Formats: sequence, C-alpha cells, structure tokens
Amino acid sequence: MNMKTKTELLGMGVKELEDYMESIGEPKYRGRQVHKWIYKKAVSSFYDMSDISRDLRNKLDDCAHISIPRVLKQRASIDGTRKFLMELEDKKRIESVVIPHHENKNTRYTLCLSTQVGCPVGCAFCATGNSGFQRNLEAYEITGQFLASQRELQKRLKSNESELITNVVYMGMGEPMFNYDQVIESIYILNDPKGVNIGQRHITISTAGDVKGINRLARDNLQVVLAISLHACTNELRDTLIPLNRKYPLEELIKAVKQYISLTNRRVTFEYLLLDGVNNSKKDAEMLTKLVKPLLANINLIPYNEIDGLEFKQPSPQQVQQFYQYLLDAGVGVTLRGEKGADIEAACGQLRAEYKNNR
Ligand code: SF4
Repeated sequence: MNMKTKTELLGMGVKELEDYMESIGEPKYRGRQVHKWIYKKAVSSFYDMSDISRDLRNKLDDCAHISIPRVLKQRASIDGTRKFLMELEDKKRIESVVIPHHENKNTRYTLCLSTQVGCPVGCAFCATGNSGFQRNLEAYEITGQFLASQRELQKRLKSNESELITNVVYMGMGEPMFNYDQVIESIYILNDPKGVNIGQRHITISTAGDVKGINRLARDNLQVVLAISLHACTNELRDTLIPLNRKYPLEELIKAVKQYISLTNRRVTFEYLLLDGVNNSKKDAEMLTKLVKPLLANINLIPYNEIDGLEFKQPSPQQVQQFYQYLLDAGVGVTLRGEKGADIEAACGQLRAEYKNNR
C-alpha cells in the first residue's frame, strides 16, 4: 500500500480513532491507546507504541500513518527562543517558533504556528511575504507543528513534561484567515481536553486584516484572542505596507472589529510594528490613539527586526520608548513587546523557511 492510500490518523479525536480501529476489525480501545501515543507522547511510528501487539503495529503501518512533521534544523537564541525548520510529507518546509516565558518558577513556552507554506499577502516588511506562496496547510499539519515542537523541546530540555507549551499564536508563516476552516479545525484539535488540551483563551489568531475572516470568527464565537496587524493609520501608508488593505481599507477593517467586539464582548489586540521614519512619528501616535482608544482593545508595539534585502529599519530604543510613552499617557492600553529570537531570525516577520530551493 503506498502513502497515498494510507489513512492519516493525526488530527483524529478519540471517537474517530475508535471508529477507525473498528473499521479495520480491531477493538475500540485500541483507538484510545493510539490517541494517547499521538497527543500525549507525540509518537509518529507505530513501532514505538509499546502496548500494541507486533501484529497490530504491522497492520497499522500498512494502512495508516501519523504525519508529525520532521524537524530538519533548529536554532536556539540566547534568550531561549527556538526556531524549528520542519518538513512536511510533500517535502514542503515551514517554520515554527517557541518563545519562553516564566510562570512562577517554571519556564513555559508560547508556540508560534504557521498556517500556510509561504504567504500570499506579500507585506512589504515581511520575509515570508517576500518569498511567495505555495499552499495552505491541513489542520493535521498545523497540529503536527505543536507535537513536533513539544517533542523537540522535551528532547533538548531533557524533560518529560507534557505541558511545556502553554500558549499558541497563529502568527507564523501565512495568513490564518485565508485558511480559515483548517485553522479552526486545528484549534479544536489542540483544545481537546483528552489530547493536547490548550485552552482557547491561550490561543491567538493574528490577521493582516481579512474582514471576511474576522466576521466569520465573530459568528463562530470562539474564546480565542483576535489580533490585528495594523501597522498604519492611513490607507495611503497601509496600502503600501499590507497590500490586503486595498481590498479591505481601514474603515471596513475597523467596522468589522467593532462588530466583532460587540458580538463577542472580547478584547482585541492591535499589533503595531514600529518602522523607523515610516510610522513612528508623534502624528502616527496621535492617529493610533484616535483609532484604537474608543475600542475594547490593546496595542502591542513591536520594534521592527531588520531583514536582509528589505529597506525598513528599526527605530532607536529612545524613539520606541517615546512612542510607547505617548500612548501610555494618552490612556491607551499598550504593551511594548520585548522582541525575542531576533538573533536567529525567529522574530516577527523574519520567517522564511529556506523553502525556496524546495519547489
Ligand atoms: S506579515 Fe503575515 S500576512 Fe503579511 S506577508 Fe508576512 S506572513 Fe503574510
């Protein structure tokens, strides 16, 4: 049997795995065993499933597979951030990043997931957007990044803990709203209390401003956090930074955000990348205040990470501080993100996955 006719088990919940086992003439409880191996231990080879008979391992290997992506390479930053280059079944490559944070005395991680191979949006400041678009990821491939990252972390940290990753952000390669159905399905998989068990409130979906997706998310009323990459307060500038603005200009975007807030009563985050001489003047800070202050929203300021071949520059720490202070004094909810992983090109907008040689 070749790979194409094998059944993908990654992405299935307990019930589906029980049904699958029945469909191949095995007792249902085998489904529960396999479920545990996949989601609690991130095991992708049936031969590593020690409580399953040799005959069944052979049978499963013949008719099914578990496509957790292969980690080809990883780089670790001095701040503990790790970037994983992963290969999918069709050899396409994506990147995922784990970012450490401290909870009590423990180090826990936020995982930044990719949703597409490349990205069709083509933001002017982004390495991914400048590398073109290849395809959407399936829900199981998105989930697989979680399992592969968890497995690598455990290996590197010599830890058996299954809860090293506590937060997930859909902010890696790709525009999540362009792959909406698969993204939502992957959220349900990650959210499953019998499996990975990441609470929806610990999950953030970030969009460059896809109004259609924002409207759908409002209607679906998930408990996830919505983040909008704003980066500019005039259509003129935003058109040049995020081409999607030509389809959904600021007025439409803000209208959709207001509607989202009124339907869900959930606070929204606006991401604002600080680009030197482009969007970091006092006037920009004033416009940003005017736009965001009336909303149930926070601003997350991110000093830009410079990328080879792109003209944008990072403002000086003093300029960043001034911009931040202006918003703070104006009474806007604002955080200044201490950028992580810039030394390994794992920071915002720096993912490019070296996949170009792989088309
Ligand atoms: S910033 Fe996000 S939406 Fe824009 S090109 Fe990069 S990955 Fe795509």
